[in-house]
Amino acid sequence: MLNFKISELIYSETAVKNNINNMPDINSLDNMLNLIYYCLQPVRELLNAPMIITSGYRNQIVNRLVGGVNSSQHTKGQAVDFVIKGMTPSQIISIIKTSKIEFDQLINEYDKWVHISYNKGKNRAQILKY
Ligand SMILES: [Zn+2]
Repeated sequence: MLNFKISELIYSETAVKNNINNMPDINSLDNMLNLIYYCLQPVRELLNAPMIITSGYRNQIVNRLVGGVNSSQHTKGQAVDFVIKGMTPSQIISIIKTSKIEFDQLINEYDKWVHISYNKGKNRAQILKY
């Protein structure tokens, strides 16, 4: 059963602070649903621990403000950044890596959080570290 809220993926502190409407367009919503269904929910069930989304959907303005790259999958609703209390990004990644969960990119970002993306039908299963 899905227990993610779309609002968890839309909330942005930067958007709130700057009074920006960060509502996704319909294509991004579609992508977010696939991301939740095929990727985030299975990851949550696999890790069986509270997963805190630190950044999900970002419109172009929000993305620019947080210093995201122009082509960021966050702007398409295809990516989230998350943390799990008590687990390091590399621990999280090594568990996901050995599962059958499909993903496009899995990135350890600065040893602070995990970036995961899903691009239906085009998943590259790439694992990177920044
Ligand atoms: Zn990210």
